[in-house]
Amino acid sequence: MINWLKKLIEIESISRNEKEITDFLESEMKKMSGELKRINNALFWQCPNFSADKKTIALVSHTDTVPFVENKWQITRPLSPLEKDGKIYGRGSSDMKGGLAVILDIISGKKFGDKFNVIAIFYDREELGFPNGITDLLEAKVLPQIDLAIVPEPTERQVVHGVFTTFRFRTVSHGKAVHSSKAYLGENAIYKLLPAIEAIKNISLEEVEGVKEAISVNLISGGTADNIVPDKAEISIDCRFDPKLSQQEVIARLPDFGDLEFLEDGFFPGFVTNPKTEILSDFITLVGSTKLEPYWTDIAQLGLRGIPAVNFGPGSADQAHTADEFVTVSDLKFVRDKLVEFLK
Ligand SMILES: [Zn+2]
Repeated sequence: MINWLKKLIEIESISRNEKEITDFLESEMKKMSGELKRINNALFWQCPNFSADKKTIALVSHTDTVPFVENKWQITRPLSPLEKDGKIYGRGSSDMKGGLAVILDIISGKKFGDKFNVIAIFYDREELGFPNGITDLLEAKVLPQIDLAIVPEPTERQVVHGVFTTFRFRTVSHGKAVHSSKAYLGENAIYKLLPAIEAIKNISLEEVEGVKEAISVNLISGGTADNIVPDKAEISIDCRFDPKLSQQEVIARLPDFGDLEFLEDGFFPGFVTNPKTEILSDFITLVGSTKLEPYWTDIAQLGLRGIPAVNFGPGSADQAHTADEFVTVSDLKFVRDKLVEFLK
C-alpha cells in the first residue's frame, strides 16, 4: 500500500493532466483479474465472479491533485514522496492518493470476500468541480447498479454521509468616475457595496446535524487609480448551506442586494445519504461514527443520481491542498483494515 502511494505521488497529475497516471493505473489493473474499461481518463474495474444476485460496492477515487508551489515545500519536494515519523509526505498524499492507494491495495491483493460485488472507479478533473470524469462514466452508462459507493477522501477516519450545498456568486456595483479632488461630483462604487458586505456578515446561519453553515466575502476588486472615484466594484461570495436547500431557497436566504448586479458563479447541490439504509448502517456501525461536512464532494453527484454514497478515507481535509501535505501510515492502515473487514 505504501509503495502504491509513493508511486502515485511521483506521477504529477494536476487536474487536466491525468493521462500519465491513468496510463499507469490501466497497465497495473490489466495485470489483475476482473474486467477493465477506460473512457478518456476515467477507469472502471469490475471484480471477477460479478453476479447480479449480489449487492455492489463501489470504491471510488479521483486521480487528480491541485497544483503546488514547489518552493513553499520544506520537508520534501511535492513529487518526491518522503516517509518520515509515520507519515508519508507529497502532493496528493491526503487528497486523495492515500485513498487511491488503499483501493489499489485491496483490489490488487483481492482482500475482499464473495459477499459483495466490488468495483473500482478512478477518474479525472475532480478538483475542477463538476462535470468531471465520473460524470462521463455515469453518462456512458457503463456502470452497474451501485448499492453503496465509498469515496476515501480525507475524513479523519470517520464516515461522512452528506455534504453541504455550495453556492458562489458576485455582486457588482456601478458608480460614476470623477477626479477625486471633486469626489462629491461622482458616485463611489466601492461605497455602494458596503451595505451588501455588512448584510452578508450579519446573515443568520443555521446548524445542520451539528455542523454550522458558512458564508464569506472572499474577493473584492474595484477602482482604476488612487485619484479617481471608482465607477465599478465587485465582491465574490462563497456560501455553504443546508444540503436540503434548492438553488432558489439558497438565494431566498440571501440579503436583498437592491440595484447591485447579481451574478451566479456556481451551484453545487448538497446531498445527505440516509445513514439508516441497510448496507450503510452496517458500515457505519463497523467504523463507529458518521457526520456531515460543510464542503462539497462527489458523494453529492453520486447521491443525486440515486447512488448511496459516503466519504471515508485516510488523512484530513486540513492537510489537503497545503504545502508539506501528508497522510499518516496509521490512517492508511485503519481505513484499509475497516474496508477489508466490511468487504469480507
Ligand atoms: Zn479530493
